[in-house]
Amino acid sequence: MSKVKVRRSDLKPGEVLCSYCSARCCRYFALPIETPTTWQDFDHMRWYVMHGRSAVFVDDNTWYLLVFGDCENLLEDNRCGIYLTRPQICRTYSTDNCEYDNDSCYDKYFESQDQLWEYAEAVLPPKPQPRKKAGAPNLPTLPLLS
Ligand code: SF4
Ligand code: SF4
Repeated sequence: MSKVKVRRSDLKPGEVLCSYCSARCCRYFALPIETPTTWQDFDHMRWYVMHGRSAVFVDDNTWYLLVFGDCENLLEDNRCGIYLTRPQICRTYSTDNCEYDNDSCYDKYFESQDQLWEYAEAVLPPKPQPRKKAGAPNLPTLPLLS
């Protein structure tokens, strides 16, 4: 298969765009998630991205969990190893709107817990501080020693 990057408009009749692609659509999956509205929601998303090779992005007002990972059926030459029995989601995916030539730019993209937390701090009311238990002693403040 050719590694030359061709434009969609350059395809000749009968040619398939996937022949020129590094199988970008077979190297991740993304699932829509609830739009976060609370600190707890952001805490959950923070946990998602702590695992590495994952991110959260927003596109057209929908939030997604993005998990990077090559499909186990992907062959070395970027073809599908189970083409005839591939899952329905792969069958319905079309080259018409695929990511072959997109720049992976999203409305929002978070790949670290710090990025998510900074965003939460900007859009949410201040995080409530844990209440002191009734009867908990007021500890004295120690002077700093120089
Ligand atoms: S559908 Fe698009 S992204 Fe997926 S392999 Fe084909 S050209 Fe690449
Ligand atoms: S099953 Fe085939 S088409 Fe579907 S993601 Fe895996 S390699 Fe790609």
